[in-house]
This record gives sequence, structure tokens and C-alpha cells, in this order.
Amino acid sequence: MKTNNARDNAVASAITWRENLNMNGTSSERVDSYFGSDVFSQRMMHQRLPKDIYRRLMRTIRHGEQLDPEVADVVAAAMKDWAIEHGATHFTHWFQPLTGQTAEKHDSLVVPDGEGGMIYALSGEDLSQGEPDASSFPSGGLRATFEARGYTAWDATSPAFLTRGENNVTLCIPTAFVSWTADSLDQKTPLLRSMDALSVQAMRILKIFGTDEGVNRVYTTVGPEQEYFLVDKNLFYARPDLVTCDRTLFGAKPPKGQQLEDHYFGSIPPRVLAYMAEVEKELYRMGIPVKTRHNEVAPGQYEIAPTFETSNIACDHQMVMMETLKRVAPRYGLVAILHEKPFSGLNGSGKHNNWSMTTDTGVNLLDPQEETHTNMQFLVFLCATIRAVDIHADLLRSSIASSGNDHRLGAAEAPPAIISIFLGDMLTDIVEQLEKGKPSRTIKGGALDLGAMSLPQIPRHSGDRNRTSPFAFTGNKFEFRAVGASATSAWPNTVLNTIAAESMDYLAGQLEKAAGKNPTPAKLESAVRSILKDIIKEHKRVIFNGDNYSEAWHKEAEKRGLPNLENSVKAIPILASKKSVAMFKKYKVLNKAEVDSRANIFMGRYVDQLLIESEQMVLMGRTMILPAALRHQKQLAETVATTQSAGVDCKDEKAMLEEFVDLVWRFNAALTALGEADNYRDDDLFKQGKYLKEKVVPLMDKLRETGDQLETQVAADLWPLPSYRDLLFIK
Ligand code: ADP
Ligand code: MG
Repeated sequence: MKTNNARDNAVASAITWRENLNMNGTSSERVDSYFGSDVFSQRMMHQRLPKDIYRRLMRTIRHGEQLDPEVADVVAAAMKDWAIEHGATHFTHWFQPLTGQTAEKHDSLVVPDGEGGMIYALSGEDLSQGEPDASSFPSGGLRATFEARGYTAWDATSPAFLTRGENNVTLCIPTAFVSWTADSLDQKTPLLRSMDALSVQAMRILKIFGTDEGVNRVYTTVGPEQEYFLVDKNLFYARPDLVTCDRTLFGAKPPKGQQLEDHYFGSIPPRVLAYMAEVEKELYRMGIPVKTRHNEVAPGQYEIAPTFETSNIACDHQMVMMETLKRVAPRYGLVAILHEKPFSGLNGSGKHNNWSMTTDTGVNLLDPQEETHTNMQFLVFLCATIRAVDIHADLLRSSIASSGNDHRLGAAEAPPAIISIFLGDMLTDIVEQLEKGKPSRTIKGGALDLGAMSLPQIPRHSGDRNRTSPFAFTGNKFEFRAVGASATSAWPNTVLNTIAAESMDYLAGQLEKAAGKNPTPAKLESAVRSILKDIIKEHKRVIFNGDNYSEAWHKEAEKRGLPNLENSVKAIPILASKKSVAMFKKYKVLNKAEVDSRANIFMGRYVDQLLIESEQMVLMGRTMILPAALRHQKQLAETVATTQSAGVDCKDEKAMLEEFVDLVWRFNAALTALGEADNYRDDDLFKQGKYLKEKVVPLMDKLRETGDQLETQVAADLWPLPSYRDLLFIK
């Protein structure tokens, strides 16, 4: 049988890797010898550009000044020289269309010189602008198929980098992607607009506190922690569901799952560690500062996390990171799976989006500092965030909606679909003091005495952690934990920045009104206190420090009136609500057409993914599982017949056969029901999505249930799919 081949190959591959890796020993190459070698960094530009050009380019990068074509020409020439010295033959405008992936079209750096020879060339125009055909990218109704023109525009704030593959080195130029009508067709454009919007409002607040000196802008920062699974390549390709959907549609629970809690932070298997090291090496080369690696909760699950960067660069790097995780895995006989829920019954994968704001002089605006109760500026930024998350909890939820994430949110392993904020003891205490009047204390954590003389005393945080909260304050940043593993970070961050900008705008307005021009410190402080008091009164319902997984919280949240958008069908339409459209428009992040197109695209993707899954499921059921079950049934029946004709009693075998036939019958009935149900089509995407969620998903669940029962009864040598046990434990 094929399955056994796949398993044998996987076992052989795991053993070979283990032995070879042990033989080869360690690499002595130093990280600093290649760190950043494939990125056209600011340092590189400083070295290679004339001083004046460098200065003018920096004005574009740092202060958003329009780029002069003359500057672009010089930068392009320097970038081209650098790229060809590193082996590049092609360049591409690299962008993030609304497919959830990245896109690239390569052009050669080589052009004919007109005299029968060749020269290398990259003009300022090549660098600044491209014109890919936009008609094959999702536009969500923004454009008709025949209206094909689209443009890419160089984003000088995100450094160009090289990608390397077999026989190819390509210069990737990060770009924004817009239509002929200047509407955004990508993830980057609104992210950049949202960062600008937040900067403008945050600067107003700094100005009020007189802390804006020398500050030109405020950046948002992001550090995304990425979870993923690794599966042996042989087994992956023996599972059509993994190949087409990146998740298993069938699969009985293995005897050993994650119940022993022995995988999390466990020692990393050698093949996996070798793989991680190569991924990191590639990322380091491209200047992506990866920091952390470890085993995650489920067997076969891992995490990688970079050091945070400004949002735009972090989100670009996040795309490169996901792509690199996938690209490198086959070299180690593995496949990396970024789906939110590849295996039922085990933890799914998320992406913890750590978010903060910092001035361009390096001050983290969400750092509470020592005597937090006196740090009025921090409290303003904190309360602005609280207000934003309360007012737009539904939109924030919508920003992470996907068919994959529907399996994860609220499944007692990931935060629920109810958005709330965890503040921890110290901040909760201050917020409560503020609500009552003048705060007078900051709870201190003290020190932990470990009780052994040789061990150091370690400072203790003033509050514990809470892993169950979707939006948690973690020291000097917020961690938005409900983002799905396969998501592009750019979109939830766009939403986060915009809602924060709106609340900062509101607070700045209130403060300017209450404190007047050049207020004395005392007047300012009392104005802040009275405004924050109202904010807290109105929005404290979104603060919750308890167990977000508990049933009690769901009830309590309902009482508090917090939205609970359990699935994508409920969450996605929120994006196009009046409230969201007005906000995106006001802060010039997205116009109404752009918002509507996104809602259509997200719903369209949801519908497509569910249709692919249900069709794949029917196909596997019909052509793999049912035939295996019938073969098993035949063997059983033959056993009964031959035993009977030998004159031996076979009551038990007969009962077994009857029971099995009944199970096969139920499986077949479920299969037929799903096969019929998923033929339904509605021109209205939102209706189609609702239908799939309400009618098709329950039928898929039912089919899976009987299919998984069959897996535990059919002879192992007849079962056509690698089991969970194989997928998760051969490494
Ligand atoms: P933990 O989740 O245990 O608090 P870390 O402190 O290591 O872990 O941070 C996790 C992620 O948060 C890392 O990617 C880190 O770079 C990022 N991070 C730290 N500070 C900030 C910040 N000011 N803004 C955005 N991300 C940050
Ligand atoms: Mg974390």
C-alpha cells in the first residue's frame, strides 16, 4: 500500500537525518559574517551614495518627503551595483496583493547595449514604479476584469533585499500596489496610511505634554511571534487534504496527543533544529532579526519570533519569514504548515502580534516606567488604547477573521472571539484609582527569594501573565494574541493603528480644550485626570483579567454588552459597517470603495476555502476512505462466510460485521449529504458564506466523525492515509 510506503520513507528519512546530522557536527561560521549581507540597508546606502543624495533619501524615509527623480536615479544605480556584486541577475517589485501572499514579477537587470553586447541597468523609473497587470489580483469589485491597469510604487522605508534560490538571485524592491484609480489593492498602502494617521495624533498628545522636542514622528512597532507545524514531506504528500487545504480533514485522535505536556519548550529534535538554524541564517542574511525558537504546545509544533521593528518593516519581514519557513523545510525532508488548525484535537497555531508606539527618538510611549501613577502621558496613551479597543472590539475581531481562525478562536486553546483587554494587577489598580480620583501609588513587584544561597534574587513583575486574553498588556506593549498563524500582519495592524489614532484624536481634542494653551503642570494634570476618569468609566467594561477560556466569562461578557462574533460570517461584514467606513475615511486609511472591496475579498476567500475543503473531503471520502472501508468489510464478510462453512460458530464476527456495515452505511450517507449540500451557489457572497457556515460545516463535522471512527476500525494495512501518530511523531 502507498501509505505504508510513505510511512517507511518518512521513518527512513527521519533516521537518516538524525544520523547524518550527528556525524556532521557543528558549523563554525559566525552569524556576524553574513548578518544583513543580502539587504540594501541604510548603512549600505550611507556607504554607497553621495552624501547629498543620501541625505535627501533619508528625508523621504524619515519624514515622508516626496522623492526626487534625480535621487531615484542615483539610488537605483547604487542598488543595481550592489545587487549584481552579490550575484543578482533580476529585480522585482515585491508587493502584497489581497491574496494573503506576496507577488513578484521578475525583470532582468541585463539589457542589450545596442552594439551586440549586454550591460546591466536599473533606472530611477525602474526602481520607483512598475506596472503589473492588475486584473488577475483580487480587487473585490473595485475594478472590472477588463480594467487591468495597476501600479507598484517603491516604498523607500522598507529596505530592498535579495532572495536566493537554485541558479537565481533576485533583487526584491518592496512596493505598494494600487489601481489605475489610485485605490489600494494591497496590504502595505493602508498600513502606511494608518501609521501616518497615528503619528499625527500621537504628536498632538506629545505636544500637550511638551515632550515633542526633537521628535519628528511616532512609529508603531510590531514583533510577531509565529507558530507553525512541521510534518515529514513523505507523509504530507500522502495526504491530499494537507496538500490542498494545509489542514487535515480526517484523522482519528492518536493515543498520545499533547496530554503529557512534554513537548512545550522540550529539547528540539535535531532535524528540526538544523532546519530552524538554516531558516534563521537565511533570515539573518536578509537583515531579519530573528530572536527566539522553541517547541510549542502540540507535538510537531514550533515557534519563531523576531525582535520588533517599525510596523511596516516588521510586516514585510513577517511575510518573508513565512515564505522562508515554507521554502527551507523541503531541504530537510519537511513541510512547514502555517494553517491555524492543521490537526483537530491539538492546539492550533496563532501569531502573537506585539504592538507598541515609539517616537523617532526612541521613546516607547507604552512604557509605564517606575512610578506609573505619576506618568500622565503614559496613562493617556494607555486609556486611548483601552477606548479604541472597546469602541472597535468588533472591527478588531473582524480584522483576524478567516476560515482557519474560526477553528481556533474560543476553542479553549486560543483566546475567545470576544475581544477584551488584560491589564494586570499594577495597571488595573492605577486605573481603579484614576476612576476614583487622584492615583497615589504604583504596586511594586518586589523580589523573588529562591531560597538557595547560590541562586540570585530575581525581580518579580508587579503582576502575573495571562495567556488566555486576546489583547494583553505585557510590560511595555500590547500583545494581540488572536491573530491567525497564516494571516498577513499588515491588516490587523492597520486596524489597530487606525482605531488607536481615532481615540488619540479624541483625547488630544479633549485635553486641548480642557487645559488650554500652555497649561501649568498642575492644570494639565487635573485636566488629564478628569478626562481619563470619564474614559475609564465608559470603557472599563472591556478590561478583564480573569480566565478568558471559562464559560463564566462568556456570560459576564454578554452582560457587559461586549460583542461576541463567533465566526467569520458574523465578523467579516463588520468591516463594511457605517462606523468602520466613517473611521477609515476620516483618517484617510481607506475610502469606502476600498473598504467594501476588502470585505468582498475576505468573504470571497472564506467561501472559496470552505468550498475547496468540502469538495476535497467528499473526494477523499469517496475515492480513499469508502473503498478502504469496503475492502475491510469484504474481508470481514469472507471471514464470516469461511468460518461458517467450516462449521465453526462465528456469532461475534457476524455481530462485528453487522456493526461495521452500519458504520459504513452512516459514513456513506454523510458523504452523500455533503456532496449534495456543497453544490448550492449564491451570487451574494455573504449569503453563500452564511449557507456554508450553517449548512455545510456541520455536515463536514458529521462526515469527519464517522470517517474517524472508521479509521479506528479498518485494518491498518488497508487504511489509505498516514495517521496523526505518524504525522506528529516521526521527526
Ligand atoms: P513575551 O511574549 O514573553 O513578553 P518578549 O518580551 O520576548 O516575550 O517579546 C515577544 C515579542 O514582542 C518579540 O518579538 C519582541 O521583539 C516584541 N516586543 C518587545 N517590545 C516591543 C515593542 N515595544 N513593540 C513591539 N513589539 C515588541
Ligand atoms: Mg508573547
